Formats: sequence, structure tokens, C-alpha cells
Amino acid sequence: MAKQKVKIIFALCCMLAILLCAAVLVAFNVPMVWILVLLTVLMTFITAAVLWRYVIREPNPYEDLELAIEQNEIVPLYQPIVHSDTGDVYGVEVLARWATPSGELVSPASFIPMAEESGLIIPLTRKLMAQAALELPAILATSKNPFHVSFNFTTSHIQSDTFIEDCRTFLGRFPKERIRLTAEILEREPFEKVAALKETLALMQAHDVTIALDDFGTGYSNLNYLNALPIDLIKIDKIFINGLTYEDTSTRLIDLVIDMAKSLKLSVLVEGVETSYQVEYLRKKKVDYFQGYFFSPPVRADELASWMARDATTYFTK
Ligand code: C2E
Ligand code: CA
Ligand code: CA
Repeated sequence: MAKQKVKIIFALCCMLAILLCAAVLVAFNVPMVWILVLLTVLMTFITAAVLWRYVIREPNPYEDLELAIEQNEIVPLYQPIVHSDTGDVYGVEVLARWATPSGELVSPASFIPMAEESGLIIPLTRKLMAQAALELPAILATSKNPFHVSFNFTTSHIQSDTFIEDCRTFLGRFPKERIRLTAEILEREPFEKVAALKETLALMQAHDVTIALDDFGTGYSNLNYLNALPIDLIKIDKIFINGLTYEDTSTRLIDLVIDMAKSLKLSVLVEGVETSYQVEYLRKKKVDYFQGYFFSPPVRADELASWMARDATTYFTK
């Protein structure tokens, strides 16, 4: 039961208890002055408890986040991913934001680390998937089959008992073959139990889930994981293209990363693409997909719908 409901029921019970007390005391002919004293003591006690809970007590970020998840304050934004050859939409990455009651959209940097450390990331991701399943059908009308939807999954979620069911529930909300799910995995810490992870990822691939290694080149021993795990796609981190400018033509690390991914027969997505120079350079390198502010920042579902209606050919000079 949502905590909000518990609070309302608690308040109603308190009021009912006070009324009952007063009624019983009146029925036993207790003098009014004593009834008033008792009611004052009760009200003081309740006010003190409420003040302690909501004003004096130190804020507890974990409880706040747990409540935000329950109250659907964690909302999805969608960042388009495009084909590098045509500029057509390939799909979207779903990115979490905390929409506070004051109307602020809080960056994931402020709450995802705590969600991951505490295990709240699993209910949080489930809520995002449920919300995306509600919002995406309206967008799909203008897209080709299959539309690729990426979520950021932690390995703790992937290895949990409910993971395959969570994916099935999401996919079950769409006509068959309409959506293809991508699981972006990221090693903020070294992956544990690599053999078991490999088995789960292979099972997901058998269910037509694409496995993407996120932020390639920034985490722990990425190269090892490329060998050990069944990866379909690598997402090359923005730091590799930050230096891609007209002025700087020094040896490009990104060329090596792209060549290596290709020799391993992996698809390549470049993240954080911001300039037309980067786009043209990377198109010549024949990477597969782009994601970045050059095309669109992460947006809400209604903005995504208008973005989908744009003319893709205007992105490229040739
Ligand atoms: P990420 O998975 O690498 O997501 C890409 C981040 O790069 C997003 O930041 C996106 O807004 C930003 N970005 C995309 N294109 C550009 C660009 O052209 N320039 C620049 N400067 N930035 C760009 P965002 O949305 O703030 O997310 C930050 C990170 O938070 C994500 O990085 C991901 O690691 C994490 N995150 C977000 N949502 C979730 C979630 O639902 N679950 C988990 N586990 N992590 C999430
Ligand atoms: Ca990601
Ligand atoms: Ca990334």
C-alpha cells in the first residue's frame, strides 16, 4: 500500500479514536473540564509526533526516493537514436528523471547512484518500463518496425528472479515484433559472477533482446567483457568524440575503438554527438547509429512525437 494512503488512514484513525474517547467519557458523565484536558493532551501528543516526523527529523533521502518511486514521480524521458546512413529513427533510450511536486525535473546524477546502491533501482526501472509502455504506443504510429527501446539495467536487476518477467511484461504491452528491447549494461563496478551473467544475457538474446555495453571505454576492463559476454552493440562514450573538431586532427582514439568493434562484428553507436563535423567524420567511419544533442536531447513523449515527424534528410550534408 502506498505510504500516502497509510498516512491518510492513520490520520482518520486518530480522529476516530479521539471522537470515541470523547463519546465514552460523555456517556460516563465525566465532567467536561476533564474531557477537554484529555483531548488537549491527545492533540499535543499527535502534533508533537507529526512535527518530529516531518519537521525536526533529519531528511532521509532513501525514504524520499522510495516514496517518489511509489508515487510515480520518476518519469521517463526519451532520447532518439538514429541510423547513421539515413538519419531515420532507430529507436530511443529511456532516461530517468525525478519530477518533483514543485515541477522540477531532477537529473539522474542526483538519485541513480543511491538507487543503485540501495536496490531501489529495480522498482524504479520497473516503474519506468510501465510508464514507457503507456506512453510509447502513441509514438509508434509514425515509426518503422521494429522500434528499438533501450533501458539502462543494472546487473543486479538482470540477475534477479523477476528480470525476464519484467521484460516480458513490457513487450507484452505492444503488438508482436513492434518493439525490440535493448538492455544497456554498464560496469560502474567490476561485473560479478561473469559466467552466470553470460548465461542470463544469452537467454535474453534468445528472447530477441539486444545487449548493449554502455559507456564503452570508461569502466572496468571493458575488453575482457567484450570477450566474455554475448554483446551485440557497443555504445562509445562521449569522451572519445569530445576532441573531434576541425582544429584537432591528431591520432584519434575513436578510430581504434571503432575498428576494434568492427573486427569483433559488433554494431557501433556513438553517444554525445553534438556537431555536424562529428556527424560527417563518424559517417565516413561507418558507425551504425548516433545519439546526441545534434539530433535531440532527451525529451518527453509528446515532444518525441513531434520530433519523429521531422525531415531526417536535413541532418546530413550529403
Ligand atoms: P547514459 O546511459 O550514458 O545516458 C546518456 C547521457 O548522456 C544522458 O544523460 C544524456 O542526456 C546525455 N547526453 C546525450 N547526448 C548528449 C550530448 O550530445 N551532449 C551531452 N553533453 N550529453 C548528452 P542523463 O539523462 O543525465 O543520464 C545520465 C546517466 O544516468 C545515464 O548515462 C545513465 O548512466 C544514468 N541513468 C539515467 N536513467 C537511468 C535509469 O533508468 N537506470 C539506470 N540504471 N541509470 C540511468
Ligand atoms: Ca545508457
Ligand atoms: Ca552511455
